[in-house]
Amino acid sequence: MYSGLSDYLRLDSKKRRAIDELIRSIENEVLFESSEFVPELSDSEYYSHEDCNEDACICLEEPEIPKTKYCPKCHRQYPEMENFCSECLIRLKRIDDITKVRDIQSKPSFEVEGFKSYTTFEEIFTPENMEKIQNFKFTPQKYNNIIKNIKIAALSEFDNLVRSNEMVLDYLSILDKVLLFTKSFVEVDYKSYGQELGVFTFNKIDIDDRQVDGLQITTLTHELSHFLIKEILSQIICSILDCNKNSLIDAISTFILTYSPLNRLIDEYSAHTVEGRFTAYGYQDYSSFIQIQESLKGEMPEEEIEIAKSIGNTFSITIKDILESYLDDDLRREIKDQFLNDTRDSPKYEMLAYENCKQLTKKGFMQAIWLILSEGFEVANRHIEKLESYEKAF
Ligand SMILES: [Zn+2]
Ligand SMILES: [Zn+2]
Repeated sequence: MYSGLSDYLRLDSKKRRAIDELIRSIENEVLFESSEFVPELSDSEYYSHEDCNEDACICLEEPEIPKTKYCPKCHRQYPEMENFCSECLIRLKRIDDITKVRDIQSKPSFEVEGFKSYTTFEEIFTPENMEKIQNFKFTPQKYNNIIKNIKIAALSEFDNLVRSNEMVLDYLSILDKVLLFTKSFVEVDYKSYGQELGVFTFNKIDIDDRQVDGLQITTLTHELSHFLIKEILSQIICSILDCNKNSLIDAISTFILTYSPLNRLIDEYSAHTVEGRFTAYGYQDYSSFIQIQESLKGEMPEEEIEIAKSIGNTFSITIKDILESYLDDDLRREIKDQFLNDTRDSPKYEMLAYENCKQLTKKGFMQAIWLILSEGFEVANRHIEKLESYEKAF
């Protein structure tokens, strides 16, 4: 289905370079006969107590008075006996009273307003709308506007969560920072069953909090990508049909992403790649897409499977762009440090062969979106019952 897109492929040079550097570092390791690859270490990890010069270093440790209060304005911390901030001259609050990020309830909604407001699937699947879907011309500019709208909505929700819960971002662990950011997009709940570390279903992420922090972080970014690819598709549909976004539209995009193994591969590969941006290569969970990829072998030409991965890779570039509006270089470094600190597994370099380093040109990407939606709508139209069951779940 997607094989016609091969002319639009080009190299994702950023990703290729990152993987090449890693492979080179492994080869060097082998050269120096070191048995274990040491992942990037932060400066603080290189430093050890033995390093300090005996004469110059005064290692006297003052007993530290625990700081239990903070200034809500400048965030300086104070011991129990203090009542006012000496700088801001305002009353101190207790650190213990700050709301825990995991207790914050959020149910963000990404509004899109259009001319029409549909209330049934029958109203959506009219011959007129089907023709619109078959003949639409989506432009990179419209696509970028959607990405921008998602960013604006999420960042204002993030600000709102910080303000209304009187959060002090500087005090948060890296897991809590990522969790709070995730809650600006979707509802997050906890689960303590099943094998998966997390699942995304119908605008909600369920995460297993028995896992170490590093794994919870990469799981959150993975599941958040599933949400975002669904959200992008929903907003594209609204733009083409000039309608409000509601649970009917979300049900259609959920159906489109799940009905065919090829589309599942696009969705899964995109989430896998986004997760990789916030982990280290060789450490991601490759099982997430390999299973789907294996099921397609023999059914589909190898080339088509690679193009589906290239489409997923191209989606992941814009999803990363959304996530990096908050998770910048500094926070990404913190995430990687946390992850490498928490995991005892060694990286699986042989898995790097599964990485796809191709992306579509702008024109090719628009073409891919057209293929996904035009075929998806045709199939969705024949599965109204399934759509209705999805719609109820939103
Ligand atoms: Zn102060
Ligand atoms: Zn997944």
